[in-house]
Amino acid sequence: MTNRSKQLFDEAVELMPGGVNSPVRAFNSVNVDPIYMEEGKGSKITDIEGNEYIDYVLSWGPLIVGHAHEQVMETLQHVMKKGTSFGTNVEYENKLAKLLIDRVPSIEMVRFVNSGTEATMSALRLARGFTKRSKILKFEGNYHGHADSLLIKAGSGVATLGLPDSPGVPESIAKNTITVPYNDQESVKYAFEHYGDDIAAVIVEPVSGNMGVVPPVNDFLQYLRDMTNDYGSLLIFDEVMTGFRVGYNCAQGHFNVTPDLTCLAKVIGGGLPVGAYGGRRDIMEMIAPAGDIYQAGTLSGNPLAMAAGYATLSELTPESYDEMNRKADRLVAGIEEAAQANEVPLCVNRAGSMLGFFFTNENVVDFDSAKTSDLEWFAEYYRHMIEQGIFLPPSQFEGMFLSTVHSDEDIEQTIQAIQSAFKHYKK
Ligand code: PMP
Repeated sequence: MTNRSKQLFDEAVELMPGGVNSPVRAFNSVNVDPIYMEEGKGSKITDIEGNEYIDYVLSWGPLIVGHAHEQVMETLQHVMKKGTSFGTNVEYENKLAKLLIDRVPSIEMVRFVNSGTEATMSALRLARGFTKRSKILKFEGNYHGHADSLLIKAGSGVATLGLPDSPGVPESIAKNTITVPYNDQESVKYAFEHYGDDIAAVIVEPVSGNMGVVPPVNDFLQYLRDMTNDYGSLLIFDEVMTGFRVGYNCAQGHFNVTPDLTCLAKVIGGGLPVGAYGGRRDIMEMIAPAGDIYQAGTLSGNPLAMAAGYATLSELTPESYDEMNRKADRLVAGIEEAAQANEVPLCVNRAGSMLGFFFTNENVVDFDSAKTSDLEWFAEYYRHMIEQGIFLPPSQFEGMFLSTVHSDEDIEQTIQAIQSAFKHYKK
């Protein structure tokens, strides 16, 4: 950590719990002190002492067109000159809503909120209101934000810190959440056979990104679609991370499985705080004031956030995804070669520009297999990478991301850094 970062962090721990406003930013699991960043441009991020890094965190996913993209910044400046918030409808809400309805197969109507957590929490209330049932089914190692009913056997920071069931979630709420292993059709079947008539919804990350990256296998998503149809439950895709990242039409377009409701955030806000949930018109029209299921927000549909999201999504074309896939393939080939040369156990999972590297000989398909990764070595690898100017998410249980502006040189430089880091691996 740089001296200035250290000073600021020492001060921050006295001011904010753990010195951060979101747990994984504390870098606990890799034993590195947090770095204070100050500026981003394209694929690069610069800390407060002027050190530059190639950034694969991208603000945890949103910055798919890179930092400070010219069109996004120009749009923001233009909108900002007129004010920051009016608490009324603004035209950009329609523009972004139309774009989402156009590109996301399941979305016929959408409601904007301010974060992914709000999106999933609200979608669950809607599913419960629509079906008049109380239970939900979620998967171990999937993270859907920090609402009470979803903070059970969750991934992301909860997994990193080993806090699977957070204190503060009442038993009366936890008992309505059924949790089964990801990619495990037998367990889903068992849950439906026992509780099917009470299950309001299945919520799933169509590619899991919060236990590291774990794609669905053996038509898992189609199986969930069939089971929810059979039992009259709703299927909710939490595409907060995968939305507009796994493909031009999100994960549901990529895998060709259409859920009833979809949760979005991250990319659709272009780096500003946004979330959204949308889906079938007959379900969405139950939300107030069209219907009687309540959900609201002072800053929801904020003009700056809507404009940044619209500008970001307008930059993306199907070809943007082909390009990101090509670069992701090259990065994967580079890391596999380096692993082989240094006898580092490695499992690579990739879905579009979401990548997960696990240091294990197992095939990672769920949270248990993800946990077989060598976490001590991950931390050491992480430290070697950051010393070489490569900024990765500071946890094994997070995915890394590419943007449309990562260059071939960035990828080659990253592969070289990986080769050099892997030389330190002790068999
Ligand atoms: N769902 C998923 C799949 C996520 O990855 C996240 C955050 N990483 C969330 C929900 C919560 O979103 P937010 O942090 O914006 O509340």
